[in-house]
Amino acid sequence: MATMLLVLGGGLLFVVILVYTLFCGDAPQHEGGVLPKVQNCVMAFIDPLASETVRRWVKWIAGEWCCTKMEAAEDYCCFQRNLFMPGVYVVFVSGAYYCYYVAILVAYVPGERSDGIPFAYGLVMWALLLISVALWITCLRTDPGIVSVKNSAEHQVYPFDGVIYIPKECSTCKLMRPPRAKHCRTCNLCIARFDHHCPWINTCVGAHNIRWFISFLVFHVLLTGYGGWLACWALVHEVARAQLWQARYLKDGAAVPVDYEYIARWLLVYHGQAVIGAAVMWLIAIVLGCFAGYHLWNALCNETTNETYKWKKQKWKAKQCTEEDIELLLRQRQEVIDENPKELAAGWSISQQQPGEANAAVLTHNVYNRGLLSNMREIFFPLQLPLVQAARTVESEKRSKKKKKN
Ligand SMILES: [Zn+2]
Ligand SMILES: [Zn+2]
Repeated sequence: MATMLLVLGGGLLFVVILVYTLFCGDAPQHEGGVLPKVQNCVMAFIDPLASETVRRWVKWIAGEWCCTKMEAAEDYCCFQRNLFMPGVYVVFVSGAYYCYYVAILVAYVPGERSDGIPFAYGLVMWALLLISVALWITCLRTDPGIVSVKNSAEHQVYPFDGVIYIPKECSTCKLMRPPRAKHCRTCNLCIARFDHHCPWINTCVGAHNIRWFISFLVFHVLLTGYGGWLACWALVHEVARAQLWQARYLKDGAAVPVDYEYIARWLLVYHGQAVIGAAVMWLIAIVLGCFAGYHLWNALCNETTNETYKWKKQKWKAKQCTEEDIELLLRQRQEVIDENPKELAAGWSISQQQPGEANAAVLTHNVYNRGLLSNMREIFFPLQLPLVQAARTVESEKRSKKKKKN
């Protein structure tokens, strides 16, 4: 029993450390430490062509032509908009559900057995699956918040904070990028409140589809978690049906009552498929749970994935700054805030620079974080400019363009 718990605990810890290393291994606070090296090794395993050594080996074994083709295929599949990853999702989900259906739902439904999985439990599984797939399709088909020359004024819903966002033109789209927007290299478009590009939904996650993306993650965690729980539920009932807890077995010539270790072995031998089904479901639920938790936390703090990197860099930079550097940065920040249209900045509590030591804190303060409730409301009901204000912004943009031309 102790060995089993140790293995389970060790496995869980390994998965959590792996996920953290993958996403946060390159954070500035880990610079020079062991985590960036581990992240490199993991990345070389996940994406072999990213490693120079593996690339050299492929060239040596299969030739230059083969290596180039492999790189082109990798570029097409991972760094261009295409239906490869959504296809993988369809194959993965339908394959996994078919295996699960055969191994657990069909094998343990009531019929010959009066204590099998109740029909309603199977229905819940179907409902969760349908909602999860429907959310995935919604993510796939919703406009994430594409910013174009025509609609850029409508996306000016945030003020520039003067720290991680300063007025800037997108060199590709040739438009003044609204605060919190970013140009996605894969989609070749500017996206409002850019979070990240997700190959699984073949589009970016931005202001208008983050609610669907978070719901998609949460429902997949529920689906896999429920699947894992259902499989365990069926296994517990199988143990009870076989009256194993009352049984005894021969150990060193003596009849001893069964223990957890014996039951685990018994389940593996007689219900191996269901044990594997449960383990796979739990593993996916944990990995997706970490991912969903990360996005929910970001939503609560009103930070995008893109901004978490920016803030990490900014905090690191603020620590290295001398007092003169901080003074200069604060002055630049104030200039940007003063240039913000007054009506846009209204309602936003942009903290003013304080005398003394608090100054450095102003440079690392996320002005978009307006409290848990407001932040969550913003995720599910994306900010929109009131029509009058939008018209005024379009007018002022036109005026400034005319001025520039003159
Ligand atoms: Zn752009
Ligand atoms: Zn994109």
